[in-house]
Amino acid sequence: MRHPQTGKASLTSFVPQKVTFSTILAPVLGVQRRVTAPIISQCFLSANATVACVINSGIWSLPRPNSRIHHTDFLLTSWLEDHNLPPIHSSGRDHILWDGLDASKIKTWHIWSSIRNTGHLVPWHKVVWHRLQVNKYAHHQWLTGLNRISTLARLHRFGLSSTQQCFFCILGRETTSHLFLHCTYSKWILIQIVRLFDIPVSYHSWVEFLVSLTELKDKKKGTIALWYAQVYCYHIWRERNARVHDKGIFGPSKLLQGIVLDVKTRLSASGWYSFVTRNRPDLDNFVRL
Ligand SMILES: [Zn+2]
Repeated sequence: MRHPQTGKASLTSFVPQKVTFSTILAPVLGVQRRVTAPIISQCFLSANATVACVINSGIWSLPRPNSRIHHTDFLLTSWLEDHNLPPIHSSGRDHILWDGLDASKIKTWHIWSSIRNTGHLVPWHKVVWHRLQVNKYAHHQWLTGLNRISTLARLHRFGLSSTQQCFFCILGRETTSHLFLHCTYSKWILIQIVRLFDIPVSYHSWVEFLVSLTELKDKKKGTIALWYAQVYCYHIWRERNARVHDKGIFGPSKLLQGIVLDVKTRLSASGWYSFVTRNRPDLDNFVRL
């Protein structure tokens, strides 16, 4: 396995239980009773011997067997052939990456979750990952929340653009917050959407707006709002890129039609939406812009 930050390759092994140098040896070797563990009973090791007792300079180092026991060498050798000892990292810096073995079933997802690097949860993560999310849109919205999309203000900061003027209104500086929240073009579209959900648009930054979406009391209504926000975000960016490359230009009302159509398509394919609208016919109003 290659460490994602240092780039150094290292050996990762999956040992069938949590093992440290202070772990009692017998359970590690798959035995509970001394009499069934020649490595314990015939090598002068006590019942409480730990893993550290049999590891020396990074390799398994077993004590010599008790010569007074008949056929000890044979018993020990045949026992070792039947039991695979856990591999040991040559650096001697083994550490536990995953301790989820208390679960009755081992899932690949658990292993992946335990060995990957994770950052702090952002307060707007539910806006990105929800039951109606579409990966392509969610990924884009995630980048907007992190302020990682290639706005002109960002490119200008890196010396990659000579202008920062917004492609929609010409007057504004194209930052993430301007593009999705403050620009006259986008704001008109956003107002048509958020007035359905009684959400104001008078926020200072795009992230503040994303956080406000997570605070809606009506969770079903809120989920639809999250989906609207995701589609809105994607369509605004796509239209912006179309203008960068001198392709078709939509006015705000035309773009809004495309957003609503996209929202409806996803909702009509959602089992969750058809289920909740049985008891909440009012939710149908949110796709009637
Ligand atoms: Zn603008």
